[in-house]
Amino acid sequence: MEVTFLGGAREVGRSAVLVRYKNTQVLLDYGVMLNDHPEFPMHVEPRKIDAILLTHSHLDHSGSIPMLYISHTPRIYATRMTRETAELLLQDFIKLSGYYLPFERVEMESMLRRCREVYYREPFKVRDLEVEFIDAGHIPGSAQILIKGDKTLVYTGDVTTIRSKMLDGADTQVGDADGVIIESTYALEDHPEREELERSFVEACKEVVENGGRVLVPAFSVGRAQEIMCVLHARGFKHPIWLDGMARRTLDHYLEDRRFVDNYDLLSKAGRRVRRVNGRRGRGAALSEPGVIISPAGMLKGGPALHYATKLADDPRSAIFLVSFQIPGTPGAMLLEEKILVADGEERKVKCRVEQFRFSGHAGRSQLHNYLRNVETATRIYAIHGEEQACTALAEWSINELGAEAYAPQKGQTYTI
Ligand SMILES: [Zn+2]
Ligand SMILES: [Zn+2]
Repeated sequence: MEVTFLGGAREVGRSAVLVRYKNTQVLLDYGVMLNDHPEFPMHVEPRKIDAILLTHSHLDHSGSIPMLYISHTPRIYATRMTRETAELLLQDFIKLSGYYLPFERVEMESMLRRCREVYYREPFKVRDLEVEFIDAGHIPGSAQILIKGDKTLVYTGDVTTIRSKMLDGADTQVGDADGVIIESTYALEDHPEREELERSFVEACKEVVENGGRVLVPAFSVGRAQEIMCVLHARGFKHPIWLDGMARRTLDHYLEDRRFVDNYDLLSKAGRRVRRVNGRRGRGAALSEPGVIISPAGMLKGGPALHYATKLADDPRSAIFLVSFQIPGTPGAMLLEEKILVADGEERKVKCRVEQFRFSGHAGRSQLHNYLRNVETATRIYAIHGEEQACTALAEWSINELGAEAYAPQKGQTYTI
């Protein structure tokens, strides 16, 4: 079995891995790097691909897939939830970045038509390979992928091994595997203790709101926004919670299929009490009283969050609480480091409170180590989906601690398992 890393090698974004075995070729994810202009993985010939196996809908895993449908129509496999949320994210991506993309809506539609829905732990065949999706615990519908030929390979995609409010965490019983392709986003650091993080976040929200302020929580629309909603509700936050942008439609999808949300009752209760911002006009209502507003984009790169941020920036009683890692250079990172808000090309110093709470949908360092220890038979480990130092650190740890043959592949490198 041969694996080639087409993207996501020593970088976060544009994840893409090509697997070849006998006469079969499958592509694991085909994502996009979201910088000022989108950047794509290395080229593959769509007519030679027997199937695309998509781990989850986030654009760093799905964003380049429509490119493969310009003159061909390869089969694609994904869970139902991945298919539905990928449609939302890709539509939005085409709307915002269309000018820079080599595909349009019609290619996305052809991709969705060719999608076969699969569910966890239900193996299926792609020519010479047997494939199985396994719960990745990252966002509802996310999967790890197990591939069997003469050897067995596991691809983690994005993986969360601990319990969050919505999800129980990844199914780590992947069995024997000869090779593991593992994400390395947080290979260099452990996350803060989850209980304490949730407690301090909800306390901070209460404090601001009970002082008459409003809290903006910029959050990714698929996964994080709904998780934050659940955290607030589960910890007895009694004040208004507003939800804006694509986070609302994602919530509807989550509520439609309880198979993908482990703590469905909590999500459904939180979903019933949350107030949905109704278009642009509704934003005034959300801002009119003390409460929490959860809205994309997570790094303030646009979306309704930017509108709210400009409205709250001058109010010392209000706050902007960032709930994810902020990529250096993004408006969110500038806000956090320098208390400067960039909107409409203008920079202004903000007076509201700004803080970061490091919620994460990725396994932290010890969790990645435990994951690998759990796959005892893995003799070959490939660390991807992380900054260069993170990928090399996880590969080195695997060599030293597990005695494995481990690599932090470069883009374009091929290995035989
Ligand atoms: Zn993801
Ligand atoms: Zn990712």
